[in-house]
Amino acid sequence: MKMVGIMKRFFDIIIVGGSFGGIKSAWDLRNKLPRRHRITLISDKPETIIRASFPRVVFEDVPLEELALDLARNFRGTGIEFIPDRLVRIDQTGNQIITAEGKHKFDFLVIATGARHAYELIPGSREYARSICDPSRILETKKAILDFREGDFYSGVGAGYTPCDGPPWKCSWA
Ligand SMILES: Cc1cc2nc3c(=O)[nH]c(=O)nc-3n(C[C@H](O)[C@H](O)[C@H](O)COP(=O)(O)OP(=O)(O)OC[C@H]3O[C@@H](n4cnc5c(N)ncnc54)[C@H](O)[C@@H]3O)c2cc1C
Repeated sequence: MKMVGIMKRFFDIIIVGGSFGGIKSAWDLRNKLPRRHRITLISDKPETIIRASFPRVVFEDVPLEELALDLARNFRGTGIEFIPDRLVRIDQTGNQIITAEGKHKFDFLVIATGARHAYELIPGSREYARSICDPSRILETKKAILDFREGDFYSGVGAGYTPCDGPPWKCSWA
């Protein structure tokens, strides 16, 4: 990566990922840095879902949409620019990121794109288990729990595919 020119008057800071990590980084940097430094947050979705509240979707019937935070609205007028776009590649020598829609130069880059659910690490977990952590599967988990009548119920965490170990335990007590 190229060295940042010491004489530069302002820096372009790009943060990729619009959830806990990205949002916290953006706010912390905005609060600490003078306004002449530009902070841009790029995320592949226009909103973020507050994942920590997933158990409320399942057990308190809270609609999933209520957990959504509109990123453009959240950052309007804050000095943090939000761009909905997907990171495709990082060009380290050119100090730029390539996104689905274009290219963005940066002086500093924060990658906060989160973790991937590695179902392949536990054979059968995609087909036979339900997740309380995976945003794309939370409604199917809710349905499975509501439809559950009798039988054995196993709850587990770890092996690389949970972002947080507490929720599955909490759900088995509910
Ligand atoms: C039920 C539940 C309860 C939890 N409770 C807690 C708790 O009490 N306390 C706690 O600290 N944590 C808790 N967690 C964990 C917490 O939610 C995660 O640790 C946190 O969401 C991780 O944040 P992140 O920003 O690193 O990644 P993520 O939340 O995974 O966000 C990644 C972001 O990057 C975006 N992105 C991904 N790929 C790209 C790309 N190529 N280009 C652009 N954008 C991209 C995604 O759209 C998303 O906005 C809980 C999690 C769950 C599921």
